[in-house]
Amino acid sequence: MANIITCPSGLTGRVRGMKVREERILADRKLAKEGGQLDELLAACWEETLDPGPYVLGDGGRLDWGQVLQGDRFFALLMIRVQTYGPMYEFTVDCANSGCRARIPWELDLTKLPVRPLSGESRVAFVTGNRLETRLPASGKRLSFRLMTGQDERKLPALQRATPERMLSAVLAYRTWQIDGVDDKDKRRAIEDLELRDATFLLGEFDRVDCGVETSIEVECPTCLAVQAVELPFDKGFFLPGKAKASPDRKPSSLT
Ligand SMILES: [Zn+2]
Repeated sequence: MANIITCPSGLTGRVRGMKVREERILADRKLAKEGGQLDELLAACWEETLDPGPYVLGDGGRLDWGQVLQGDRFFALLMIRVQTYGPMYEFTVDCANSGCRARIPWELDLTKLPVRPLSGESRVAFVTGNRLETRLPASGKRLSFRLMTGQDERKLPALQRATPERMLSAVLAYRTWQIDGVDDKDKRRAIEDLELRDATFLLGEFDRVDCGVETSIEVECPTCLAVQAVELPFDKGFFLPGKAKASPDRKPSSLT
């Protein structure tokens, strides 16, 4: 596997597979709580930046993963996994058919997932203040919003946890800079007041301008043959597949 990778934005660098010491990063509870695990992992396994893409490098050519777009970060993590264990990713999902619920074993090649590059429009907007604009179809209002970076990725889950019953408005309000004629302090309320048609449109706009890896995959259940769209599982088992297999519902082996 070539260890030089080009992320969706054009960011290019050399990555290495994970070492034993990286297990510590994944097991660190404090890091997990603060959402810093992925940043640490990226920083550890990203050996050298060959082309900074849209990013400004810091002292000594250091890449600040907090400033890196979500799509690039996810792509880099996939490629670190490929460097560590090879391109094939095995996992299981539960069949969504309520009459079946079988465990579906699945396997796919992580290097074959469709990747959407950062568009010229998004790149220009990102490097000139990270502000994109759109017009909402129902209200006719203009609205500006941002592309999500690593820093945002860390902040958003906390906001969602704070108001779990209003997850959608948390996401929309977080990515929105400004709505025409609305004061900053009234932003969240203005978002709550949006018609669902506008909210759906806005989510579509986020999708349209984002770069990244397509993680919705189709899986066919071998038991009932139902085809279902699932999100690529991305959890501890992604980085430590051996540990995931030793799941608690298994009988302890004689070695433990
Ligand atoms: Zn099934």
